[in-house]
Amino acid sequence: MKIPLNGSCQCGAVTYTVSAEPLFTYACHCSSCQKRTGSAFSLGLVIATEAMALKGALTAWSRVSEQGNTNTRYSCASCGNIIYGIGDINPELAKLQAGTLEDTSAVEPEVHIWTSRKQPWLTLPDGVQQFETQPEDGLALLQAAMDYRARG
Ligand SMILES: [Zn+2]
Ligand SMILES: [Zn+2]
Repeated sequence: MKIPLNGSCQCGAVTYTVSAEPLFTYACHCSSCQKRTGSAFSLGLVIATEAMALKGALTAWSRVSEQGNTNTRYSCASCGNIIYGIGDINPELAKLQAGTLEDTSAVEPEVHIWTSRKQPWLTLPDGVQQFETQPEDGLALLQAAMDYRARG
């Protein structure tokens, strides 16, 4: 991916720049992601929160996950487009919504989580890293993404 990454919401009131390489990219098939995206799964990039510079007014909304962690998501105050989310256990990492990037073509999920909720019509590529739920240890996801990259 070409750094910096630039992105915006649909209406353009919120714009951002990410100045460091994302740690990894993932697809989440959980029912909460299906609901909030109105789609079959969400596509995200895990980035260092401090690497993101953002302009524009945001609204915040928090929910408590099945594991009891609080996740806050930030959306454009005008158009409601979700830009990123942050979990209270790992505030130094942000989950950026891949679809808000200017160039989405470079985003390929290295890890798939919550495949137990995956739509049956969707077949995942061979060799892609899969987790039936979400591992409690976030490092397991990073390790899986590195293994996937190493295999090419
Ligand atoms: Zn907007
Ligand atoms: Zn999810």
